[in-house]
Amino acid sequence: MTTHQIVLIPGDGIGPEVAAATTRVLEAAGAPLQWIEHHAGIAALQSLGEVLPEQTLDAIRDRGIALKGPCTTPVGTGFTSVNVQLRKRLDLYAAVRPVRSLPGIPTRFQGVDLVVIRENTEGLYSGIENVVTQGVVTSLKVATEHASQRIAHWAFQYARDRGRKKVTVMHKANIMKLTDGMFIRCARTIREQQGFTDIDYEEVIIDAGCMRLVQDPTQFDVLLLENLYGDVLSDLCAGFVGGLGVIPGANIGDDYSVFEAVHGSAPDIAGKGIANPLALLMSAVMMLNHIADTRHDESCRAAGARIREAYNRALSDGQKTRDLGGDLGTEAFASALIERIRG
Ligand code: NAD
Repeated sequence: MTTHQIVLIPGDGIGPEVAAATTRVLEAAGAPLQWIEHHAGIAALQSLGEVLPEQTLDAIRDRGIALKGPCTTPVGTGFTSVNVQLRKRLDLYAAVRPVRSLPGIPTRFQGVDLVVIRENTEGLYSGIENVVTQGVVTSLKVATEHASQRIAHWAFQYARDRGRKKVTVMHKANIMKLTDGMFIRCARTIREQQGFTDIDYEEVIIDAGCMRLVQDPTQFDVLLLENLYGDVLSDLCAGFVGGLGVIPGANIGDDYSVFEAVHGSAPDIAGKGIANPLALLMSAVMMLNHIADTRHDESCRAAGARIREAYNRALSDGQKTRDLGGDLGTEAFASALIERIRG
């Protein structure tokens, strides 16, 4: 049996806690993985003097795949976001965040099953900010045809591969006519010129789109969004299905992939042993499916299926962490999953 070497970045705050719980469950499920641990974020700053050490990037370039915990980014001052740097340096242009209703988590809506696809490399995240004069600053929103076309192509291909029916682009092209205008024009053109017309397509101005989302999220299937809108809407959509503790994510490029939860380092609960490890574990299941798809190793898909079945059963049995209304800590929840995998 092949063992896949995966770079593990525990991250900051709750990162090491949820990473430890996740790797325990993966091992119990028989996932054929070997961890190569590297650091990023405050953890790396303290031990190696920089937030994104070259050796961490090289390790991902060597092994191709990483599982990453959240990294803290100072607000308002300090270093550029590790996450933004990582996505840009490795050209991880597609962020994929599935949002699904889960058993045993009562929420306002049932049957939510949508996927947020976020352009991950440009927009307002280009980090080009200038002081024009005292008291006047600017932040540049950058859009390129290249990035807008490739994310559109990726989204339609994803929809086709997963049997999804519709792609909705949310935008503000009525105001940002050049940047968002290019984003929707590229989506339209890719759909028409590259044979994706079997997939339904709609363009929605994002403010009206947010209203429609909170009225009934089940009317959406795949959401295609530029960088900032994708960031904001990922958290908004998390609220439909139980919160940030249950939203996994993947950052995918042509050469490398980094799997990580949507949530951050949650400094308010770090070190208390109460964080929900499910979002990182679900990201690991996405990673196992990705390995199965790209390296043709069905044992990874089987391990992912065992984990999914275990967490669905645990949640149905009321075994939950506090963010979901339960009373289990991080490790106790991981143990509840392991019992179900073994039993
Ligand atoms: P956050 O996602 O860390 O926390 C928001 C709220 O959700 C908090 O109340 C937190 O306790 C709760 N929460 C988050 N994850 C949880 C989990 N697994 N289980 C239970 N509760 C959970 O967002 P924030 O507070 O805005 O950001 C904190 C730090 O994380 C910031 O430095 C930010 O830059 C960083 N961040 C990193 C990433 C990443 O590494 N990918 C993503 C988002 C934010």
